[in-house]
Amino acid sequence: MTTTIDWRARAASLKFRNGLYIDGRFRDAAKGGRFETVNPANAQVLTAVARGTAEDIDAAVAAGRRAFEDGRWSGKSPAERKAVLLRLAALIRENVPELALLDTLDMGKPIGDSSTIDAPGSAHFFEWHAEAIDKLYDEIAPTGRGDLAMIRRVPLGVIGAVVPWNFPLDMATWKLAPALATGNSVVLKPAEQSPLSALMLAELASEAGLPDGVLNVVPGFGEDAGRALGLHPDVDALVFTGSTKVGKLFMTYAGTSNMKQVWLETGGKSPNLVFADADLDRAAEMAAFGILFNSGEVCSANSRLLVHRSVQEEFTQKLIAATAAWPLGDPLDLATRMGPLVEKSHADRVASYIDIGRKEARLAHGGTRETRDGSDCYIQPTIFNEVAPDARIAREEIFGPVLAITPFDRDEEALRIANDSEYGLAASVWTKDLSRALSVSDRLNAGTVSVNTVDALSAMTPFGGVKQSGFGRDLSIHSFDKYCALKTVWVKY
Ligand code: NAD
Repeated sequence: MTTTIDWRARAASLKFRNGLYIDGRFRDAAKGGRFETVNPANAQVLTAVARGTAEDIDAAVAAGRRAFEDGRWSGKSPAERKAVLLRLAALIRENVPELALLDTLDMGKPIGDSSTIDAPGSAHFFEWHAEAIDKLYDEIAPTGRGDLAMIRRVPLGVIGAVVPWNFPLDMATWKLAPALATGNSVVLKPAEQSPLSALMLAELASEAGLPDGVLNVVPGFGEDAGRALGLHPDVDALVFTGSTKVGKLFMTYAGTSNMKQVWLETGGKSPNLVFADADLDRAAEMAAFGILFNSGEVCSANSRLLVHRSVQEEFTQKLIAATAAWPLGDPLDLATRMGPLVEKSHADRVASYIDIGRKEARLAHGGTRETRDGSDCYIQPTIFNEVAPDARIAREEIFGPVLAITPFDRDEEALRIANDSEYGLAASVWTKDLSRALSVSDRLNAGTVSVNTVDALSAMTPFGGVKQSGFGRDLSIHSFDKYCALKTVWVKY
């Protein structure tokens, strides 16, 4: 269906919701401020969005608290909540083109991805969590006669959710679906680069029957709206996806306010290990996907490639050839697989890493930044070879289409280099030897290890990291844990 749409015409007639969404309606910010959200494909302003500050966060948290306390959502049965969230999923499906366009215009993601992956993915994640919630049973402890000890999962109350710009709709969904399914209220602060799809999602949630005040969306800047949410004394848990630096701030916000629970999904520098016995053609094709999908703006991007020295040159040539399948271009063009980076300052940052790489290693491919349609946010796929494991481009998260290749001679050495990182979000392994695949997977210190693929992900499996990639898990049955307290009710009889 999405292949027959005239995306440019649809984009031209798109409606932008640009208020704060609090207590079931759009409103201006208390201080009246606005900020511009810019299309990185052509540097044009899309709209001026209400800029939430601490007063608006107060209003949104108060709305969430009222809704939670009077039970309009928290008091509904899991099956009733499921019905509303399934209606929301259906509305998302009906509105895939519009939601996809909002993300594409806001942050430069190719429409071919946002319309077939992000927006349908959001519907799917809501469906999955909605379908799961009335199949979760509580527990009775094995106390013996005379005692009945019930262990119940109860919603926490008001959840603050702060999300990044790389998958605006999906990162919001990963937090909202389990938080709402378990009966909480939520105050969501989308990234300032990409607030538009979250505002539409809030409107659709109301249309689906989510009571007013249960989902509030407050666009604004991190240092005021995000910080105010992190410090708020009436927020019970703060769930965050974003950089490690800001994740650490949320821990201090919690520690200096009400000790709210904090769950962090943060940065990554994921290694992709290619052994000499791998299917090199497939590994090269997927290694390109692992670093170029979403222009490399992926927390779990396979940004370090560790390859056995005996196949290093052959593999590098195959990988360079595989980048040809990733044309850089206008994100509204269905042939485009890499759009512009999210904003000028981020493109500047990625370009500065390319400059660092030129000094630290051998540029094997790309390295150019281009100006198109008045925007200089376009960066070609870039591959550095012979990268030392302690080079900055091998250690620091670049968050762009920049790959660092490091050769290895022995399995032990590959494992040591792979694990020698402050991050531990994901890793990939390519080998035809099952025993090696399993033993290497056992020893890789990462939240997800993909064997003979990259970045395997599903609603059914938990996603999150170890070390400074954060803690807590999104997706799967385990995602509900973050949004519930375990409550023991003990009865003597
Ligand atoms: P970021 O940390 O700069 O911003 C994320 C969110 O935090 C935004 O909403 C922002 O407004 C807010 N924020 C910024 N400064 C703040 C402050 N001082 N106080 C409170 N809130 C603040 O990250 P980004 O640049 O938007 O996204 C890229 C980062 O996100 C990368 O590091 C990437 O790895 C990470 N990420 C992680 C995952 C994961 O699941 N682990 C997924 C996607 C992205």
